[in-house]
Amino acid sequence: MKRYDYLIVGSGLFGATFAYKAVHSGKSCLVIEKRPHTGGNVYCERIEGINVHKYGAHIFHTSNKEVWDFVNSLVPFNRYTNCPVANYHGELYNLPFNMNTFHRMWGVTTPEEAKAKIDEQRAEAVARMKEEGATEPRNLEEQGLCLVGKDIFEKLIKEYTEKQWGRPCSELPAFIIKRLPVRLVYDNNYFNDPYQGIPIGGYNKLIDALLQGADCRVETDFFNSEYRDWRSFADRLVYTGPLDAYFGFRYGKLDWRTVSFKTRILDMPNYQGNAVVNYTSHEKPFTRIIEHKHFEMFGQAVYDCPKTVVSEEYSTEYKEGMEPFYAVNDERNNLLAEKYRSLAEKEDGVLFGGRLAEYRYYDMAPVIEKVLNIWK
Ligand code: FAD
Ligand code: UDP
Repeated sequence: MKRYDYLIVGSGLFGATFAYKAVHSGKSCLVIEKRPHTGGNVYCERIEGINVHKYGAHIFHTSNKEVWDFVNSLVPFNRYTNCPVANYHGELYNLPFNMNTFHRMWGVTTPEEAKAKIDEQRAEAVARMKEEGATEPRNLEEQGLCLVGKDIFEKLIKEYTEKQWGRPCSELPAFIIKRLPVRLVYDNNYFNDPYQGIPIGGYNKLIDALLQGADCRVETDFFNSEYRDWRSFADRLVYTGPLDAYFGFRYGKLDWRTVSFKTRILDMPNYQGNAVVNYTSHEKPFTRIIEHKHFEMFGQAVYDCPKTVVSEEYSTEYKEGMEPFYAVNDERNNLLAEKYRSLAEKEDGVLFGGRLAEYRYYDMAPVIEKVLNIWK
């Protein structure tokens, strides 16, 4: 039986990047993955010549040049720039909130006119907060109203957010939308980062490059396999599965939110003309429709591929058997996660890393950055 330096549980970006760095430092690795494929949530399924983001749309973006150079050294990235469109009862608006949005909403054409209109729209909420002695927005509703005013809050934020989080905006924390840019320029780029794109040929190419040189076993669950007794196989363990599961849910279960997808193949080359269209009213039960080909096909290439694949996204409460996606940041879960983290710190020879094992939301680039820093 081969003995490894590392047994890595999970082949998502954390596990795969760790394997890459280990192999390039002359260490041996065995990666085990419970799903039938590697890559975790960035895995793409090829349908009709299109890379379909099976676990939700993934757009790589970062301000960290080291991370950008690292991923591009493995597979070049394309020039995809995320410019989502919002559909409110058939009216279309550009996101994030910028001069195109303000022009469509109010007919204003200059930044000065837009600013005056936003100030007028915010006035009521600002006055109400002042009256009640609040100096900062106390919830997402107040945050939205103070940021962009009543019209945009009602048409583009309120119902979308309620669909996404399953709770009224007045009961949600303000920070959820603090990161949405508000720009007085005609710029539809959703992200502020200087580097953005999709790996040419899809995310599987990135994962394959990261895992080269490591032994991999899919359809192998750490908890229901011989590897549970990991010390017989390796000197160290890198664990990227759910934090509470590792400890047998000893203090109780952590909650998650997840997303379910309805994916269809359509017999037309171009369904919605954009990768991401958000449906911001309750009229439609899904939050958005992703048309996958637009992540990697531009111009004539869209029409050279005769079919298209679209996915409706439904935000859902997590139940047993689903994929856990988002950590729930309420008090109960934060406290529980902290208790498990203290146990994790005491676990000899084990590194807990990534979205599930740290019970934290991470974008892709910070996950890679974290692993690169560990190896430094
Ligand atoms: P994962 O990809 O979840 O990998 C963990 C792996 O461990 C999984 O493959 C899992 O099957 C495996 N595993 C779990 N338990 C076991 C076990 N017991 N035995 C064996 N294997 C096990 N980031 C961006 O930067 N841009 C985006 O646009 C973006 N969009 C997103 C959209 C959605 C819907 C979601 C959920 C996330 C999005 N992200 C995005 C975040 C991105 O997916 C994560 O940063 C990244 O996947 C984290 O990698 P990870 O390895 O920590 O986790
Ligand atoms: N949001 C919104 N309308 C939109 C898009 C986003 O109100 O059309 C709000 C919503 O509350 C969401 C938050 O902004 O939870 C963050 O959205 P983003 O798309 O950045 O996050 P993601 O869905 O990728 O986690």
